[in-house]
Amino acid sequence: MIIDAHTHVDSGSKETFRAAYSELESSMDDNGIDAAIVMPMMGDDYKTRRFCEPIIEAAQTNPRVLPMAIFDPDEKDESLNAIMEYLANDLIIGVKFMIGYQTYHPKDLMVRPIIDLAAEKGVPVKFHTGATAKGQKAQLRYCCDPFQFDDIATLRPDLKVDCAHFNAPNFLNMSPMLEKNSNMCADLAGLFYGSADPRRNGWVKILQSDLYKAIVYLEDTSQIMFGSDNPICDQTEHMTFIKDFFRRHEFGQNDQRKILGENARRIYNVDAWLARRGLR
Ligand SMILES: [Zn+2]
Repeated sequence: MIIDAHTHVDSGSKETFRAAYSELESSMDDNGIDAAIVMPMMGDDYKTRRFCEPIIEAAQTNPRVLPMAIFDPDEKDESLNAIMEYLANDLIIGVKFMIGYQTYHPKDLMVRPIIDLAAEKGVPVKFHTGATAKGQKAQLRYCCDPFQFDDIATLRPDLKVDCAHFNAPNFLNMSPMLEKNSNMCADLAGLFYGSADPRRNGWVKILQSDLYKAIVYLEDTSQIMFGSDNPICDQTEHMTFIKDFFRRHEFGQNDQRKILGENARRIYNVDAWLARRGLR
C-alpha cells in the first residue's frame, strides 16, 4: 500500500473540497498512491469545523481519504471542542499542530486535552517541524528545535509523535530524536519546491545526500514516511524525488515499501480505521 502521509486540500466549502480533492485524486492515480492523509489548508479564514468536516465526510465512504484535523489556537475553545469530539467519535486518523506558524509549544497546556485523548485512542499527532514557507509570518524557535519534540515523545511514551518535514533542512538533527524514541516518526513532505531533477534544482542535489546521512545514522527505516505536502509542493515531483533517492542509494525493496506506505499504514492504524468503516 502506497500512502502519502501529508497532503492538504482547500476544504472551506463542499464545492472547493470537491474540486481540490479531485485534483489530488488524479495526482494519486498518476503516481500509484492508494491513500493519503488529507488535512485542510490553513489560511486566515480557517475554522476547524468548517474546514475539517468536508474531509471527514468524504472519509466515511472513500478509503483513499485519511482525514487529519488541524488545531487552531486563534479559535482555541471551538477548535479544541471540535477536535475532542472528532477523536471521541473516531472521525479522524490524526491531529496536526502548526507549531512555528502559530506560536505555542507541544507541551502547552492549551493542547493537553487533545494530547491526552489522542494518546488514549492511539491516534498519532503531527507537528510541523523545521523551516517554514517563505514569506509566512512564523517564529522558528517553536518548530526548528527537535529537542521539544523529544521532550513530548519522552514525557508521553503513550503518544505517537509524527514530525512533519523531518526538521528540514536539518535532517541530521532529527535523527538522534528518532533513534531514542520509538514512539516518534517523521514524514518527508515539502522538502523542496519545483523540480526533483538535481540538474535543474541545486537544493535537490544537496537534499539527496543530507537526507541519506540522516537515514544512515538511524540504521533503520521504520519511522520514515513518504509525504508530499501537495498542493503546496508537487506530489509527482516528490514521488520522482523518492524513487530517484532509492535508486541512487540502493535501498532494498523492504525499506522502499516501508517508506512509501507500510510505515504510515502501521503508525496510523490504517487497516483498523478502514475496517471500522467497512471500507476493506
Ligand atoms: Zn503541510
